[in-house]
Amino acid sequence: MTQNWSGVLIRHLLLVVAAGALLGLITGQYGWAIAVALAAYLGWSTWQLLRLHKWLKNHQPDEAPPDGYGLWGEVFDSIYHLQRRNQRARGRLQAVIDRMQESTAALRDGMILLDRDGNLEWWNQSAERLLGLKSPQDGGQPVTNLVRHPRFKEYFEGEDYREPLELPSPISDNLRLQFHITLYGAGEHLMLVRDVTRVHQLEQMRKDFVANVSHELRTPLTVIAGYLETLLDNVEDVNPRWTRALQQMQQQAGRMQNLLNDLLLLAKLEATDYPADNKPVAVDLMLLSIRNDAQALSGARSHRISLEADSKVKLKGSEAELRSAFSNLVFNAVKYTPDEGEIRIRWWADEQGAHLAVQDSGIGIDPKHLPRLTERFYRVDSSRNASTGGTGLGLAIVKHVLLRHRGTLDISSVPGKGSSFTCHFPPQQVESRA
Ligand code: ADP
Repeated sequence: MTQNWSGVLIRHLLLVVAAGALLGLITGQYGWAIAVALAAYLGWSTWQLLRLHKWLKNHQPDEAPPDGYGLWGEVFDSIYHLQRRNQRARGRLQAVIDRMQESTAALRDGMILLDRDGNLEWWNQSAERLLGLKSPQDGGQPVTNLVRHPRFKEYFEGEDYREPLELPSPISDNLRLQFHITLYGAGEHLMLVRDVTRVHQLEQMRKDFVANVSHELRTPLTVIAGYLETLLDNVEDVNPRWTRALQQMQQQAGRMQNLLNDLLLLAKLEATDYPADNKPVAVDLMLLSIRNDAQALSGARSHRISLEADSKVKLKGSEAELRSAFSNLVFNAVKYTPDEGEIRIRWWADEQGAHLAVQDSGIGIDPKHLPRLTERFYRVDSSRNASTGGTGLGLAIVKHVLLRHRGTLDISSVPGKGSSFTCHFPPQQVESRA
């Protein structure tokens, strides 16, 4: 029931004044009598206020307020109900938080909330298990202090989280983790950490298998190729019917050797994330020798191969790996360009980094093949491959080498007109002399 409390208050004051007037009638001192009545009312009100203050300060959570009369009783009850309502709402919110914490604790993936500067705000139990986080000590610490891996620091600060990052766990090298980061709110980070050890082991088994088989096949093949060479060297002793067969066997043995070498090179590239050396490589000199090799490969087909290379621009990385990637691109241009075609090799640097372009006036590639061109064994026209002697692994090697040097490959091509393969390297891989 709602009451008009201002009316009640006025009635009470009128009653107090009337009581004072009655006292004045008896004593003959009207002024004093009304003043005494009002003072008594004021004293009573102050006493109620003190009771309220005492209860607010000292009461137990469920303790009811003291009984009050009139407006004071109403104030006591209202405050009490307000408090009960707040308690119930807090209880409901706590239940929601408890459920959320139970469900994230049950998650097998680690979940970590980081502020915009990358400091730890909250994490679940799996994150403690996978990354060795300790609560509460690690709260507020920068995540790059806790996951101390140069690639993680680079990934985190690079802020390009489209692809996840895979790394060994900071607590054990046997544990392989995949990190997914999502930005939310005002630049805060949500980081999910998944245990991918099993998938990684299977992948490792596949790589080891390919590497071992390639390695084991190498010796028998060397023996076969050796005997074939001896036989062909003494071709006059051999029945002429066999000459062509022997030549074909030698050619195919050569192809198999190239294939095994490429497979072993790929296995070596996959074994580590970074090249072992990071020395500045004189790309211009390397390209000069590749150009000479390409001219030799072209031989009587007389391609016109031009080279423009900036000798001031050096690339940090592994010379052997870069040589195999660049020579793959240049030799492909020779293989897939008709006789007397034109091939242009350029090496230069600008604000975006350093670039190598190999452009040919060859047969070109249909655009539908471009996205899959760097896949292993992917060939545009497999029938032509027998004549070019390609393994189908060349561009896969190029892609891997570029990945290890933070580079990217751009391919553009017009069928019948020619192709252009361009490698881009970011500025941090480049060393330029002014
Ligand atoms: P391959 O050993 O067969 O040359 P690659 O991985 O080097 O293998 O190349 C894959 C395929 O891409 C080739 O089979 C070829 O069809 C195509 N290709 C590569 N380079 C060129 C080029 N410069 N011009 C036209 N086609 C090319």
